[in-house]
Amino acid sequence: MPKTNLDTRADKRANKKYQVAIVGGGMVGATVACLLAEKGISVALIDAADPTKQWKESSYDLRVSALTLASIKTFQSLGVWSDMQALGAQPFHKMFVWDHFGSGELDIDSADAGEMQMGFVVENRVTVLALWDKLKALESCDLYKESLLESFNVEGEVVDIQFTNKTQIKAELLVAADGSNSKIRQLSGVDDYGWDYQQKALVATVKPELLDQNTAWQRFLPEGPLALLPLRDGLISIVWTANTKTTEARLKLPDEAFCNALAEASEQQLGSFELIGGRGAFPLKMQFSTSYSQERVVLIGDAIHTIHPLAGQGANLGLKDALNLAEVLLHAYGKGRDISSQQVLRRYERQRKADNLMMMGVMDGIKRLFGADELAVQLARSSGMGFINRSTIVKNQICKYAMGL
Ligand SMILES: Cc1cc2nc3c(=O)[nH]c(=O)nc-3n(C[C@H](O)[C@H](O)[C@H](O)COP(=O)(O)OP(=O)(O)OC[C@H]3O[C@@H](n4cnc5c(N)ncnc54)[C@H](O)[C@@H]3O)c2cc1C
Repeated sequence: MPKTNLDTRADKRANKKYQVAIVGGGMVGATVACLLAEKGISVALIDAADPTKQWKESSYDLRVSALTLASIKTFQSLGVWSDMQALGAQPFHKMFVWDHFGSGELDIDSADAGEMQMGFVVENRVTVLALWDKLKALESCDLYKESLLESFNVEGEVVDIQFTNKTQIKAELLVAADGSNSKIRQLSGVDDYGWDYQQKALVATVKPELLDQNTAWQRFLPEGPLALLPLRDGLISIVWTANTKTTEARLKLPDEAFCNALAEASEQQLGSFELIGGRGAFPLKMQFSTSYSQERVVLIGDAIHTIHPLAGQGANLGLKDALNLAEVLLHAYGKGRDISSQQVLRRYERQRKADNLMMMGVMDGIKRLFGADELAVQLARSSGMGFINRSTIVKNQICKYAMGL
């Protein structure tokens, strides 16, 4: 049988040796691939799914992220931001947070910190598609979609990587960007620590009766926070955290009953709701690795830290890892050093660990503070929020932190 163009391309790539192979082409892996490939490093980006798959314009991704200005700056510098905006990126400049107990509330406006916007809400598939589209045009990057990593072996100066479809490639360095259940982390024996919150975050897209596309809302409820994020087309993306049993019951509610429960939980701030599309849920856990690298293997993004989504910081944190790892590798490459040496990889670990651990601690602390039902804690929380809301200086600091500045 004659060979097709596709066969020839596959033949050419079989057993090819790259400088860097990145497993996981989500937001974090695809960003590090862009940062390295545009500087001429030969990169293979591998993902189990097909991130370039087209979708119906009338559909909405249930996975969305509130991206900080710092993250947007990274996408601008990669030249993908205009594509993301064309596909749908909703700016917001206010944040309103309130507690179910007492009168504790916090309203923050980015204008007070001298910025037009606080951040943008973007469907994850939009960010990933824009990055993959850029990578398609970069000569030094090969994309392997619908390819699941099965195993890898480090042999001397090379990592041998095998996919379940029997394809094999080689690389000097393997980057694990394969998310919170990272197979590479498990195979490499990197220890991970943490706990299951015994909670699930319910996600859905809804149309609100009252339109307010400038504000991200968050109400702390006894079982967990409810976030209402402005999405494109006048819609709202919700992330409603509760104990697993409660979330599973909410997933089964008829649409109308679900929307009524949502309106009640949000105290009608946006009036009533209409459900657009389906509902989904993600189990929540706190997980972190104490070591970020092993021989010729380095971990990044959710593969090394998974945090509670209550302040929408997981992807933003992973993007900082991506920037830092690329910077460290490019610096070593520029000096003619081995980019996979432990000296280089440990520099990345040293530079990222403190920031990652601090964010994890803060998220876990906030979760516990707002989850406490002792009266004394509730009273302290309420007056604490009142104090912060009256203090311009503290509010500006929170605002800058939320913007990633
Ligand atoms: C409900 C919810 C709301 C959130 N909201 C926000 C928010 O507002 N802001 C924010 O910053 N963060 C948010 N986060 C966190 C954010 O989604 C994650 O931190 C982010 O997606 C992590 O990106 P990643 O690229 O590291 O991993 P992932 O997005 O998990 O990507 C991993 C990729 O690896 C691929 N993969 C996995 N295993 C293999 C394998 N063996 N072989 C090949 N490919 C593989 C997968 O297909 C996937 O594409 C939220 C999380 C949740 C659950």
